Amino acid sequence: MDFQLAVEDQTLQDEAREFVRQEWHPFYKTKNWDEIGLLSPFHADDEALAAQREFAKKLVARGWYTMHWPAEHGGRDASITAQLAFREGMAYEGAPVSLGGGLVAPVLMIHGTDWQKEEFLPKLANADVDFAQGFSEPNAGSDLASLQTRAVRDGDDYVINGQKIWTSGAHYGEWYHVLVRTDPEAPKHRGISYIMMQLRDEGKLTEGITLRPLIDMTRTRRWSEVFFDNVRVPARNLIGEENRGWYAAMTTLSFERSGIETAARYLGELEVFLTQLRQTRFNGINVLDDTVVRHKLADLRLELEARRMLSYRVAFMQSKGELPVKEGSMGKAWGDMLGKKVPALFASIMQEYGRLGLGDKHAPMGGYVGHKYSAMHGSGIGGGATEIQRNIIAQRGLGLPR
Ligand SMILES: Cc1cc2nc3c(=O)[nH]c(=O)nc-3n(C[C@H](O)[C@H](O)[C@H](O)COP(=O)(O)OP(=O)(O)OC[C@H]3O[C@@H](n4cnc5c(N)ncnc54)[C@H](O)[C@@H]3O)c2cc1C
Repeated sequence: MDFQLAVEDQTLQDEAREFVRQEWHPFYKTKNWDEIGLLSPFHADDEALAAQREFAKKLVARGWYTMHWPAEHGGRDASITAQLAFREGMAYEGAPVSLGGGLVAPVLMIHGTDWQKEEFLPKLANADVDFAQGFSEPNAGSDLASLQTRAVRDGDDYVINGQKIWTSGAHYGEWYHVLVRTDPEAPKHRGISYIMMQLRDEGKLTEGITLRPLIDMTRTRRWSEVFFDNVRVPARNLIGEENRGWYAAMTTLSFERSGIETAARYLGELEVFLTQLRQTRFNGINVLDDTVVRHKLADLRLELEARRMLSYRVAFMQSKGELPVKEGSMGKAWGDMLGKKVPALFASIMQEYGRLGLGDKHAPMGGYVGHKYSAMHGSGIGGGATEIQRNIIAQRGLGLPR
């Protein structure tokens, strides 16, 4: 069986890769590993954010940013396989942004009002607005339906009180899509609503919202805790019906978990790593002359190719109109495992130096390997824990009882 992309999809992927090499990768041009920090999608200092936004604008100008959107919303109705080819090309070259619109655009297209579509879709299509996602709470992660943040209708507004946690990008996003409890008496899945609120306007936080930074072991501010104290949000920002937010949120999560380009991202990282290993010597011996290292790298390469085939299977099923429920969870769970395995292997090959992070003068590759190693622990938690995906595979794939 031949698993190649179709000629037109392969051409798109080649063009996408060349585009990233020209328009992004600062270190491809300078070979300066100090700039490697910019390649991390989680690196969120002002300089990196500005560079990422500029890159997104270039994708808009090229007409690629919303190629996956339906034509009625200004997209190009790109086929699933074209989207796969494009996303792989972007991921392979380590692009910080790929197809645009985030998690909100598809939800608005399906569940949004006419006003919401007119107000937000053009801004999302132009990469003019960033939405953070406020789902998790201190006691509602895997069991998301236990969330307690309360919204009470008051005239034309909802008044919101409570707390979110682990919100990626809340320290720079302008808008926020959140799940809130609107009916505390109803069964837990049926009392939840989905609403958008403005986080900040020209840098100033909305009245009643407080952020507390969460700094992780990479010393990066990636998340925030977000507190609401009588925050007033116009009722027209409600997505879908009141108390039916859970079902709209499932649309969001199904997009968040697809991870179809995961293997390509790691394959690209492996290529970059191999480039470095060709010049790396320990005790006078080139690392790649070590048979054990070579075998481990070859095993990883094979595993990444196998993971890529799963992506192709998911894309193939979607292109036939099938819903890849267990296959999507298999991809997520496998991607989670690779998210730990790849950095752990790279760090171990770099021996004692492998865990030194960004900015350490002794760190190989500007600390890229050590940074990835520290960051890897979030893999298997973000977007839904691996165990939850395994539950789905067990019940929906293997037919095991709950
Ligand atoms: C990188 C990253 C980015 C994130 N970004 C965001 C964001 O932008 N917005 C947002 O809202 N949230 C975000 N989160 C939070 C994330 O969604 C939650 O951390 C995740 O859903 C797990 O919830 P929890 O932390 O409460 O852990 P818990 O749900 O308490 O889980 C703890 C452990 O128990 C296990 N467990 C729980 N329930 C079961 C079960 N039924 N069966 C088997 N095992 C189980 C879990 O697998 C895990 O190992 C992010 C997290 C990470 C790591």
